Amino acid sequence: MSNIVIIGGGLAGLAAAYRLSDEHHVTVVEKDDALGGMAQSYHIDDHTDDYYIEKYYHHFFSSDTELMGLIDELGLTGRLQWVRGTTGYYWSGRAYPMNKPLEILKFPPMSLLDIFRLGLLVLRTKLVRDVRSYDDITAGEWILKIAGSGGYNNFFQPLLNSKFGSNADRVSAAWLVGRVKIRSNRGAEGERLGYMRGGFQHLIAALADSIRERGGRIITGDGVKEILMEGGRVSGVKLEEGTLSCDTVISTVPPLTLASLAEPGIPGFDPGAIHYQGTCCALLGMSKPLMTDGTYWLNIKADVPFGALIEHTNFMPASDYAGEHLLYIASYFQDHDDPLYTLGQEEVIEMFLDGLEKLYPDFDRSAVLWWELGRDALTAPVYETGYAGHILPYRTNIDGLYLAGMFSEANYPERSMNGSVRAGYEAADAVVRNS
Ligand SMILES: Cc1cc2nc3c(=O)[nH]c(=O)nc-3n(C[C@H](O)[C@H](O)[C@H](O)COP(=O)(O)OP(=O)(O)OC[C@H]3O[C@@H](n4cnc5c(N)ncnc54)[C@H](O)[C@@H]3O)c2cc1C
Repeated sequence: MSNIVIIGGGLAGLAAAYRLSDEHHVTVVEKDDALGGMAQSYHIDDHTDDYYIEKYYHHFFSSDTELMGLIDELGLTGRLQWVRGTTGYYWSGRAYPMNKPLEILKFPPMSLLDIFRLGLLVLRTKLVRDVRSYDDITAGEWILKIAGSGGYNNFFQPLLNSKFGSNADRVSAAWLVGRVKIRSNRGAEGERLGYMRGGFQHLIAALADSIRERGGRIITGDGVKEILMEGGRVSGVKLEEGTLSCDTVISTVPPLTLASLAEPGIPGFDPGAIHYQGTCCALLGMSKPLMTDGTYWLNIKADVPFGALIEHTNFMPASDYAGEHLLYIASYFQDHDDPLYTLGQEEVIEMFLDGLEKLYPDFDRSAVLWWELGRDALTAPVYETGYAGHILPYRTNIDGLYLAGMFSEANYPERSMNGSVRAGYEAADAVVRNS
């Protein structure tokens, strides 16, 4: 029986703990007060006890088999909902729906030839068996080759810019092919997306309960400061308060964070090889909807400090949220000196509300009942060309040190809840194989 500490109580850490806690002594250490990591939720406590909403917008796809299997094992399948997630594109002063082929044909900046070539690109991605073979070519180069400059300039480039900012030109075609493959799996009426009624908080809470029932321990509000080694192998972790002895550590934190915990370093591990980007995402609770045409996800090409609007209550009913309408204002940043990261919360919200007014002159600020601002610097790897060569292994060169997270094979070429659950399972299997 191994004595295992898992660093991080996001989905990767909880999935690994869920797999291991039956047979081993497992302790999950999470620095935040709440579990869930990137899939964590706000508790809006002025209302009902059960009003949870994710800090960052979340849904999943029918190909997310590990996540759905876990939801099933935890007896939560009754909460699963498959809903048509309507999308739109804001261009030149108005929002265009982009769900049905006819709507796409009517998107003004694209000519018929552009749309034909866009269709060709989608078909090409469906035939790709190994996305890794697209790792060394940039998304931009590949789009230009297959879809031409019309499709690139008027469709993909604004999306790439809003998702990756100054790193957009470096993102690989593998990332794009992976995304288009998943997203193009839609019928004539649009794409169905998965969600857990009441929020993914139910999944996180059920996982934590199940880990505890199996004898696992979960510590929150106290981060790991150092991974302790003795004779070249893991011997424990130092927390803010005290030390835990163990023979095995599974780290789920980003590589740069791991490097700061494992001084003087891990042989063969370059913590800077994978670049991460940050997210700045506001959530507004409103007395009325913003996108009255029912759009769930709106991509934006306009001079505003955000790249997408996601109206959650055009996806799930507002009645699940005390009748309030929930709008995410989403934006990514590449550098830690970006104003989205450095400005005060009120200033960012003010910038975002100004942007909303620019897009929707009828937007009524008094409809905003409350807001939250989520900001994290390390929220997603940037899938640059050559990324596949930097994927981190589940087992490291240090005895007893294992890794699982957004940087793992399971999360290539895009990170997801499913990928992190699978990474957690894979790391757990590697521990079992080697113990
Ligand atoms: C804006 C946004 C939107 C997203 N939308 C979707 C979506 O629609 N669908 C989807 O499938 N996925 C989505 N994702 C991705 C998904 O949320 C993540 O891939 C997944 O939750 C990552 O889980 P993880 O456990 O690997 O990492 P994390 O969730 O980052 O967990 C790592 C944990 O480690 C903790 N930690 C860090 N340092 C320490 C320390 N020193 N000691 C202890 N604990 C520490 C952190 O607090 C964190 O809880 C989205 C992510 C973001 C940011």
